[in-house]
Amino acid sequence: MLNNIMTDGECSLLRSLIDGAESIVLCTHQNPDGDAMGSTLGFAEALRLMGKDSLVVVPDQYPDFLHWLPNSEKVVRYDKRKDYVETMLKVCDLVICLDFNVPSRTGDMVDALVASPAKKVLIDHHPGPEGDLALCLSHPEMSSASELVFRIVWQLGLFDSLGKHYAIPVYCGMMTDTGGFTFNSTNPEIFFIISQLLTKHIDKDKIYRNVYHNYSEHRLRMVGHVLCNKLVVDEERHAAFFTLEREDLKQFNYIKGDAEGVVNMPLQIKGLKLSISLREDTERDNLIWVSLRSVDQFPCNEMAARFFNGGGHLNASGGRLNCTMAEAVDIVKKAFLAFEDKLK
Ligand code: 5GP
Ligand code: MN
Repeated sequence: MLNNIMTDGECSLLRSLIDGAESIVLCTHQNPDGDAMGSTLGFAEALRLMGKDSLVVVPDQYPDFLHWLPNSEKVVRYDKRKDYVETMLKVCDLVICLDFNVPSRTGDMVDALVASPAKKVLIDHHPGPEGDLALCLSHPEMSSASELVFRIVWQLGLFDSLGKHYAIPVYCGMMTDTGGFTFNSTNPEIFFIISQLLTKHIDKDKIYRNVYHNYSEHRLRMVGHVLCNKLVVDEERHAAFFTLEREDLKQFNYIKGDAEGVVNMPLQIKGLKLSISLREDTERDNLIWVSLRSVDQFPCNEMAARFFNGGGHLNASGGRLNCTMAEAVDIVKKAFLAFEDKLK
């Protein structure tokens, strides 16, 4: 069995916010990942069971390897349908924010989100939630927002009546945020949750293949190129980084999502504690997307906040730099030096 994740007060408030809303928008962060899509699509299914049709909104494109998710075709992109999403945010009664802690994580959608007069509920697992919230369900100890959604829906007593279209996205989100249950997933309750999801007859092996064995030949060759030609290892500091310039992206017909997970690979090197990727934006000049991954107690989020205008979790963070790649590489080297004590 699972311990309750919400207090009685939170639970009845959530119920009454949902019951009292005629029109609900669910939204998540920019560059949505498996957990962003899994938690929103899963929660939308639970709302449907409660008699509420909701609109799932994402700020921008999400990777091709998530398009197989059930109900994915109903997801609306803000960058494609700004007017429609802005109207919906204006007229809806309730906005449920999943898998992000601060409004700015929604990128260009931030102003429309903040301006929305609707009541807002946050369901998230990143530390430091902010915003004008009617209800804040923030649990950084969770592996994923999808795990949190599972527990909330479980406590609402909805789980038994839900089916595959609920279980698949929730499983997918938990799987992707834990690297296929290889990190952040030691809590035995996670495996209780999985055992419950499997009672809905989901094919977990197929979900794995759909996500991790669904790349183009180009992506695989790009990984080869990165590991062979681009990876820089700082042996003394047990850290590594690589750059992906536009030239590389073009050479390997880069599409969104192709760089996903590559930053984890250098951590396969014995003793390595930190890996950083620097990727040039495909369109905007002097915009570099930064991803950080670590093992054990190395605080990626501290480094991301101090050097890369970002944040995130202890072992997985992100950020961005507005500079040239050469300058970004210098910043990485400075960051390695500044955190030398924690890396050695
Ligand atoms: P990724 O490397 O996959 O882009 O991000 C890794 C983790 O860091 C994710 O959990 C994501 O939510 C978080 N993250 C990425 N970029 C930012 C950022 O700019 N600010 C904050 N606070 N978190 C971020
Ligand atoms: Mn997440």
